[in-house]
Amino acid sequence: MVHFFALLLWAAAVLAWIADMPELAVAIAVVVVVNGAFAFLQEYRADKAGQKLLELMPALAIVLRDGRRRQVPVRDIVVGDVLILEAGDGVAADGRVVSVTGLAVDESALTGESTTTHPSPGDDVHAGTYVVEGEAAVEVTATGAATELAHIMALTRTASRSASPLAIRLRRVVRMIAGIAIAVGVAFFIVSQMLGMPASDGFLFAVGVMVALVPEGLLPTVTLSLARGAQRMASRNALVRRLDSVETMGSTTFICTDKTGTLTRNEMSVVEVWTPEGTASVVGHGYAPTARINAENGVVPALRDVALAAVRCSTGRMVRSGEQWTAHGDPMEVALHVLALRTGVDMPAEETERPLRRRLPFDSRRRRMSVVAGDRVYVKGAPDSVLALTSAGDDAVRAVAEMAARGLRVLAIARRDAGAADQDAPLPDVEKDLELLGLVGLEDPPRDDVHAAVAACRSAGIKLAMITGDHLGTATAIAQEVGLLRDGPVLEGSDLPADDDALGELVDRDGVVIARVTPEDKLRIARALHARGHVVAMTGDGVNDGPALREADIGIAMGRSGSDVAREAADVVLLDDNFATIVAAVELGRATFANIRRFLTYHLTDNVAELTPFLIWALSGGNVPLALTVLQILALDIGTDLLPALALGAEPPSRRTMRQPPSIGALIDRGVLVRVFGVLGPAEAVVEMAAFFVVLALAGWTVGAEPSAQTLAAASGAAFAAVVLGQLGNAFACRSEYRWAGALRMTGNPMLLWAVAIELVLLAVFLAPPLAGLLGGSPPPAAGWAVALLAPVAVVLADASVKAVRARRRPTGPRPGRSGSRG
Ligand code: ATP
Repeated sequence: MVHFFALLLWAAAVLAWIADMPELAVAIAVVVVVNGAFAFLQEYRADKAGQKLLELMPALAIVLRDGRRRQVPVRDIVVGDVLILEAGDGVAADGRVVSVTGLAVDESALTGESTTTHPSPGDDVHAGTYVVEGEAAVEVTATGAATELAHIMALTRTASRSASPLAIRLRRVVRMIAGIAIAVGVAFFIVSQMLGMPASDGFLFAVGVMVALVPEGLLPTVTLSLARGAQRMASRNALVRRLDSVETMGSTTFICTDKTGTLTRNEMSVVEVWTPEGTASVVGHGYAPTARINAENGVVPALRDVALAAVRCSTGRMVRSGEQWTAHGDPMEVALHVLALRTGVDMPAEETERPLRRRLPFDSRRRRMSVVAGDRVYVKGAPDSVLALTSAGDDAVRAVAEMAARGLRVLAIARRDAGAADQDAPLPDVEKDLELLGLVGLEDPPRDDVHAAVAACRSAGIKLAMITGDHLGTATAIAQEVGLLRDGPVLEGSDLPADDDALGELVDRDGVVIARVTPEDKLRIARALHARGHVVAMTGDGVNDGPALREADIGIAMGRSGSDVAREAADVVLLDDNFATIVAAVELGRATFANIRRFLTYHLTDNVAELTPFLIWALSGGNVPLALTVLQILALDIGTDLLPALALGAEPPSRRTMRQPPSIGALIDRGVLVRVFGVLGPAEAVVEMAAFFVVLALAGWTVGAEPSAQTLAAASGAAFAAVVLGQLGNAFACRSEYRWAGALRMTGNPMLLWAVAIELVLLAVFLAPPLAGLLGGSPPPAAGWAVALLAPVAVVLADASVKAVRARRRPTGPRPGRSGSRG
């Protein structure tokens, strides 16, 4: 009720009252109130939709119950639970640290300062903070509303939300239009005074012009459109954390995706193990604990050693409940546990003989992890990271290259004897002088729908890069398999040029594969591409991916496998981790943007028809009476136009959506302006004025004469009916930017049919007593109706001919299909 437009209109209402025009004053007040209520309703619904999305956000934590690790929903955590925290986890409750290994906690979410603390046993950790390194067990002391975080939130609840970039841009558009409206209004007032009109009538004109031009309902309609886009995305498993991201997602020009879990299924299984004694292949089914193992006799003990060391380094496990085996934890580690089960490793005996003394957790820079168990140090990690710590020869290096070339993910497994010093020696001293036990080759097949999604990106003009922490060979093989590999370079993170411009130039190609990247590389790549004008979508799941996710225009985190830290930094969370979901979200983003443009086009066309009578009046020096009254204009703006505009915001995505290059930014560009001011608007206005003149002429009016009040009312009624009916045709014309209304399936947007039906009812209501008298228009005579009925035909045909010309000019453009229907 108190934003810029509302204030403008309130002022107009007061002036109207002072000028002794109470109907106008009341009508303007009604407009403000109805508009305010409508805007509130839309924003409320958008907010509700946002809250529903938040509830979909995965919130799980690991607790120790009955001596077992269990994954539970965060809301089920109670005081006294023992939380198990690992790098990347969000702390879900307040608690006291029981035990730690190298724990580092980022408290910035709570304190606002980006400091990392290193709590020791006995120290407190707080909900809302994140574990960035190490592991800890924490006894919960407070949950939910009792936590420190909740106290702080209660204090800051009143803080206002910051405006999003889209909102700022939109506000600029709206301000611009408002500025024009006021300027034109003032100009009309001056002209009317020069023509010797009474000041009150001149004022009435000025208000009419302003009301005609001001797009009162724009902002809330956009917000609701975005919310609807967000809901559609959520139903396709892409969760946006800010409504704005819906639109940014649609403008994506470059997608940097990782490999594991996004392009592949993240269902890993060990299919091959290389040992210095020979190679074994494993043929099993899913996670079943039995499998056929093809190996020569001498290899089997070596194979068991590899499996044992690998599983001691892992926390991921297969857990049996009844007949069912279920996977808990990192799929790769689960695969290693399955290998141990399949090769008959006696885990309980080993764990009793060599209890766990120390864990040096995985991190994506070191690319390995180790444990000290009894008298042994076990290490597993990326071959390039582990082999250097061993005395392994060339045959191991060759084996790695050969396995990777087949698309297998390769892990090196090593060990040495431990001494007392390893208990608390610094990390480099533990991970040294190792003996390579073997190499594990894991298969992780690509997802079924990825190939099609990659192709969709190509036809949508979006460039793709695979950016992975994995081995170059493995990455290239998978990129090849899913069709991502193209002419782009294939290289490792360490080969990236140090200069940002050179980096951007190198990576700005389609089908690039970059392997062995560090989180810093990702950050630089996002920055370099952004600097080249790209709208970059980048996936990330690790603890250290936060900065890259924030730097990218769209940071995408994994809902299933990703860390809480990554999710917190991301704009979009993929509930199914699937690359194809990113592409689906891009399509929905584009569709939402197209819808916003649709109803903008619809709205602005109406403005042209509303403004024309004033123009004609001014240009004729007052010799032609006004075709529409100010109140009729208000009735158009907040009556008949409202629902069709809303319905256009719900248009389903066009099949062309993903067959054209991305368009960035401008809501109102040349295309929209040409359509509105060159085609749709004039077509509607011509029929509007024709209807008006026909009724006047039939009553014997000539230019310069003063028509009788009755004649003028009937003529205004005809003009009004022409605009409403023209807008009806316009609604269908606006459904597509490329295809004419007749080529679209009528039932494609059921909401629009309802909206149009209501529009017709409103037309009847506005033209019948008592409202007709108040608005200043009466039902037109038959001739007036006849002309008015031409309005939708004229609008649709004008639109169709322009679309036909454009289609001919662009013969290479995508061909509309036969059976399809959406435009
Ligand atoms: P992708 O793009 O395939 O998802 P990523 O970015 O997840 O790769 P990282 O998780 O950083 O890659 O892993 C990099 C390398 O570190 C892997 O190729 C693997 O060799 C090794 N690695 C990954 N996870 C573990 C682990 N839990 N223990 C030991 N080594 C690991």
